[in-house]
Amino acid sequence: MQSYVFPGNIDESIMQIGSQPFMYMRTCAFSEINKESERILLDLIHCTGGRTIIYTGSGTGAMSAVVENYCSTKKKAFVIDGGSFGHRWFQLCEYYGVAAVDYKVPFARDIDYADLEKTVAAERPEVFLCQHHETSTGQLFDLKKISDICHKYNVSLVVDVISSFLAEELSMDDLDIDICVTSTQKGLNIPPGLSVLFFNRKLDDYEFAHKGYYWDFDENFSNLRRGQTPYSPATILYLQLNARLKQLQSEGGEWKNIEEVRHRAFFFRELCKKYGWDVPAETPSVAVTGFQTNDTAERKVFNGLIEKYDTFIMPGSVPGFYRVSHMGLQTDDELRVLASRIHEFEF
Ligand SMILES: *Cc1c(COP(=O)(O)O)cnc(C)c1O
Repeated sequence: MQSYVFPGNIDESIMQIGSQPFMYMRTCAFSEINKESERILLDLIHCTGGRTIIYTGSGTGAMSAVVENYCSTKKKAFVIDGGSFGHRWFQLCEYYGVAAVDYKVPFARDIDYADLEKTVAAERPEVFLCQHHETSTGQLFDLKKISDICHKYNVSLVVDVISSFLAEELSMDDLDIDICVTSTQKGLNIPPGLSVLFFNRKLDDYEFAHKGYYWDFDENFSNLRRGQTPYSPATILYLQLNARLKQLQSEGGEWKNIEEVRHRAFFFRELCKKYGWDVPAETPSVAVTGFQTNDTAERKVFNGLIEKYDTFIMPGSVPGFYRVSHMGLQTDDELRVLASRIHEFEF
């Protein structure tokens, strides 16, 4: 099998952990593993003195937790709605009754930052919700510009970095972000099932709301202080996360990984040029390449790759628009073969 979706092809030593017996979680050994994971995670995202919550639950669970516990303490939210993940922030606000401005950005376009500033100045929101990388289109937003606007108008900044963490340069300290959200099946390149929230130390004494029992911040923080989770963790995934984080640490941090992801993206985009596939994102993230093929039939390339080659890529919202993730392990040769196989099915 070849996988170019999320998480993509996973390192063999990480996969092995999933087939081994695993420890009981109510032990000092498990607590130590979690505390170590927290320390490495905070280093990788440059969140000095911050805290994390690691949830058993996918990325959307952690997004929901942010809206329940944090946004619901604010009078008004402002959402960058540049695709299905941005829209999810807006839907979560609606669901929990948080007043929100739905700021729409056209498919695969960058934000008009001058217009954004005007709108923020007029709306005066208290919390700003966006994606770093809108994965549904491949568009990367400029967090420096967003952060400057938020600080100028005193708006708390929350960023979904689920598909940019470990693929794009990112520093919570430099951007002064209050909360970041990520999950395990994207940049971390381990199986789906865990999500991580990163908290700026400014929020140490914040009075969070209590609107959802399972995701409650205070309950999670009080358990995590001793490296534990309030409810049964997906133990195997926590062990895979820890092993992956130690790999990254031994590589000296996130840079080697970011460099590799970037190389794969640039290499694949050369192949897109060769086959005449347009990459519509205005400023594409290196995490995925979203490209327009000539496949106008319903998922012909997608199904053909599975049936003939046991290979997965991601279909997009537009016919013939596909996405290849660069977060998983992939060599130049594998990408060359992949592109020729996509081409084989596109007409
Ligand atoms: C994948 C993704 C999500 C959703 O995560 P799940 O783990 O599927 O719940 C949210 N935001 C972005 C930007 C993503 O790429």
